[in-house]
Amino acid sequence: RGVKQHYPVHRHLPIGPRNFVKALDGVDLSVAPAQTVGVIGESGCGKSTLARVMSGLEKPTEGKVLFRGEDINGLKGDERREMRRNIQLIFQDPYSSLNPRMTVQELVGEPFEIHPEVAPKPGRKAKIKELLEMVGLNPDHGDRYPHNFSGGQQQRIGIARGIALNPQMLICDEPVSALDVSVRAQVVNLLDDLQKELGLSYLFIAHDLQIVRHISDRVATMYLGRVAELGGYADVYDATGHPYTRALLSAAPELRKNDGSDRERIVLQGDPPSPINPPAGCRFHTRCPMAQAICTTKEPELIKISDTHVSRCHFALDVSAG
Ligand code: SF4
Ligand code: MG
Repeated sequence: RGVKQHYPVHRHLPIGPRNFVKALDGVDLSVAPAQTVGVIGESGCGKSTLARVMSGLEKPTEGKVLFRGEDINGLKGDERREMRRNIQLIFQDPYSSLNPRMTVQELVGEPFEIHPEVAPKPGRKAKIKELLEMVGLNPDHGDRYPHNFSGGQQQRIGIARGIALNPQMLICDEPVSALDVSVRAQVVNLLDDLQKELGLSYLFIAHDLQIVRHISDRVATMYLGRVAELGGYADVYDATGHPYTRALLSAAPELRKNDGSDRERIVLQGDPPSPINPPAGCRFHTRCPMAQAICTTKEPELIKISDTHVSRCHFALDVSAG
């Protein structure tokens, strides 16, 4: 928001209409330091592609990912190394992302092989123990293997690896979706605590709004590769401006309205259409309970509901008001 010193982490991702697979079409998101942007959508909406593009693992076919004002795909040598250190990815399935033949201390220490300057060899063992403690694991269990740990503990190992290099940004790609429901909140709370302690920025991808409720400063809903709605937490949950977001909210009965009343239940028919050939007009029109004639022909722009809140719906202002 223009306060450059306070907002060194900034991303801008305008990805144009000529992609072959339109997994990410015109997404424009920025994440401020020590803040979380929650990104919500059904599978196939482009969330994982967004994670890979934002973390520099994949190049966007068009548009840019900016980190501290610089295009991450234009960086070379030491600058690229530094960007890589600063942006870390937390994966959905902790077990398959951890090498089963490495001990926990080897796994957590592995990032230091590439960036030894962060934890020089003397003292590295102590640093690894400290990391294990930070994520709530017993520091004396460093010689155990991933299979000795529960799913939630495995994700804690993944998080310890993610924070090992003192990054500024964690891209969390559905970090709790593969975990037992009973431990999801604990892992989200851990991420929340680490954010406060370390000043981390998060892009937190999830498939329901319930998971990111407490941790998100801003929330984006995505549909077929496009941001449907983007706003502050209260904007999106209490002054919802897009029928798709409304449907997502109504699917989570615990997400009551501000006044404690229930939300009207909206059931979406069918699966999302293919992102390769999205519907003309509003991409959501084939499933939208509020669709009008104009929706089948004219694609909505992002309409401004307030200074902090936009929605890609022709009737955004009506939806938000009612
Ligand atoms: Fe529904 Fe039309 Fe709004 Fe699209 S533009 S979300 S189809 S009402
Ligand atoms: Mg995914």
